[in-house]
Amino acid sequence: SMASPALLMRVVASAYSVAEKAATIVRNVMSAGDLGIVEKAGPNDLQTKADRLVQMSICASLARKFPKVTIIGEEELPTDDVTEDLIEDGHCEEILKKPCPAQYTGIKEEELVIWVDPLDGTKEYTEGLLDHVTVLIGIAYGGKAIAGVINQPYYNYEAGANAVLGRTIWGVLGMGAFGFQLTEAPAGKHIIVTTRSHSSALVNECITALNPDHVIRVGGAGNKIIQLIEGKASAYVFASPGCKKWDTCAPEAILHAVGGKITDIHGNSFQYNKEVKHMNSAGVLATLRNYDYYASHIPNTVKESLVP
Ligand code: AMP
Ligand code: MG
Ligand code: MG
Repeated sequence: SMASPALLMRVVASAYSVAEKAATIVRNVMSAGDLGIVEKAGPNDLQTKADRLVQMSICASLARKFPKVTIIGEEELPTDDVTEDLIEDGHCEEILKKPCPAQYTGIKEEELVIWVDPLDGTKEYTEGLLDHVTVLIGIAYGGKAIAGVINQPYYNYEAGANAVLGRTIWGVLGMGAFGFQLTEAPAGKHIIVTTRSHSSALVNECITALNPDHVIRVGGAGNKIIQLIEGKASAYVFASPGCKKWDTCAPEAILHAVGGKITDIHGNSFQYNKEVKHMNSAGVLATLRNYDYYASHIPNTVKESLVP
């Protein structure tokens, strides 16, 4: 008989189902019509009922199955008991059947850190830009993002009633990423994807220096990584603090699993151990291909303004 699946694969298989449950909650809160919007730091830093319910659902569901794993979620919530209807205990059988990359077979629960963004692109969610929204579950080991799940609850929502709504993308370093068609951006063009709701003079100064042929302004870190792996954009550039570890962990694992690269604006890799500072203070630079072009064109004035 087969040995029982490695812990990492069991965590990813569970995170897949937990993210699908999360997507259902995101859609249900929106159709019920009461978003329960709360301002955190200000009007561009929002929390809705969906952010709260989904975080409780993801964290409680994963903690119940993997009690020794460290789970860090974006939202600060009262530690009330989570109602049973928010718990997902299923897993994706197809993921469990895949062999774990050899370097990860010995991982123990206490060595994993899971970074949870229950709803990435909240500002856009409240404005009805629904396909900008993603649910992000990133899995880190030894300070590195090694696996991730990105659910896009409203994928296909403008494609008509017959289209299947929503999708789940997942990946593991050394294994690859699944649930989408890997596509490279048009060769010889610089298509930059960046923030829609957190822009600044510095963000725009940096983009201008990269000689863009086109700039796409959309919400969400998860959504912007999807733009890269589906060939819609050639670089994700955000020369500003604001993005946090839960925004980049799952996207990083998936991008790296398909040979891409994500760093801060200086070229430093991100760390995901549980003690790390949450803020990505020195911004984000990510590409599927041609990282060196973008890294080498970031102006020194921009770098000097962003302290890691
Ligand atoms: P954006 O590209 O603007 O959607 O940002 C990507 C992620 O970083 C989202 O989760 C945002 O909420 C977060 N973020 C970026 N900039 C800020 C900011 N200035 N304040 C709060 N959150 C931010
Ligand atoms: Mg986010
Ligand atoms: Mg969020």
